[in-house]
Amino acid sequence: MANIVIDGIRKNFGAFEALKDISLTISDGEFVSLLGPSGCGKTTLLRIIAGLETATSGDVLIGERSVIGLPPKDRGLAMVFQNYAVFPHMTVYENVAFGLRMQKADDRRVKEQVEKAAGLLHIEPYLDRYPNKLSGGQRQRVAVARALAVEPRVLLMDEPLSNLDALLRLEMRTELKTVLQGAGTTTIYVTHDQTEAMGLSNRIAVMHDGVVEQVGSPVEIYNHPATRFVGGFIGNPPMNFITVAVEDGAVAAGTLRLPAPAGAGREVVLGLRGEAVALAAPGDGLDMTVRVAEPMGSHLLLTGAIHGQPVRVILPPAERVRGGDVISLRPDLDRITWLSPESGKSYP
Ligand code: ATP
Repeated sequence: MANIVIDGIRKNFGAFEALKDISLTISDGEFVSLLGPSGCGKTTLLRIIAGLETATSGDVLIGERSVIGLPPKDRGLAMVFQNYAVFPHMTVYENVAFGLRMQKADDRRVKEQVEKAAGLLHIEPYLDRYPNKLSGGQRQRVAVARALAVEPRVLLMDEPLSNLDALLRLEMRTELKTVLQGAGTTTIYVTHDQTEAMGLSNRIAVMHDGVVEQVGSPVEIYNHPATRFVGGFIGNPPMNFITVAVEDGAVAAGTLRLPAPAGAGREVVLGLRGEAVALAAPGDGLDMTVRVAEPMGSHLLLTGAIHGQPVRVILPPAERVRGGDVISLRPDLDRITWLSPESGKSYP
């Protein structure tokens, strides 16, 4: 079993608190992403799990056993990093074999494992080549094959696709998912790219300023963000936030009355996904002043304001709306998130 328990991890760099009491449990075979903006502490957390960085306090358990104090090589994990360090003076075969050679595996096992990993990553045709004769995507696959060849209990990846162009990233993302689904490896994946995290993960831990703001499945996090930060970070366009007045327990939107959450004060923040609305008859919903309408082919993207607050909304491609129009939008009541204006936290 290779479940991972991160228990109360703190990390200070001098007076700066990079990680503030992080706890997170990852199940055996699960794929969890650490997602957040630059500087939120994801790489530091991954390096602490790997043993490349020492925590100020807290514990890390892999398969029920504390690994604090163990060197990286004794933690039963493999790593793939952003600058996919393949060794230029070794053939692809020897690159993939590297971890196995370090483990002093015999030639037969090396051959078996290299062929298996090369098959998974579709790099068999290049096994005799040197890395400088490969494309970026092929080199990246070599790095992943090298990590998988040792059949690690735990795979740690830090922005492994960030050096690839957009199309290749998408391809590699799909391939990674295919490969890892079969392998049963417990994976922790660091990224600042929400689409990557959404596409790959069983669960995502959204980090911000050294804390985990929310842990959940991609769909949970998208539909029910726990905080304003999470709603604004996940989704493209990000969630809209509209501060509205509460009167007699409800928020008025034209003729519509949206029941306000229990405990709301005089104002509440309406968190609204851009696509969780439908065009309504004039006066039957939230009035939006449209500044720009962009026909994107698959949808119509509208930028403008509701109650004077900036919003982006997505409508079906055939709707006829133009810049300068005032339209009425009916929110999908099941997809509304209410948030406190003071704390930025969502109401349960
Ligand atoms: P990025 O996506 O940019 O790599 P990140 O979320 O991975 O960001 P970290 O690299 O973990 O962030 O860094 C978290 C914070 O800790 C940053 O503010 C960073 O400047 C700081 N930090 C990281 N390493 C050190 C160090 N060795 N000494 C001092 N500060 C550090």
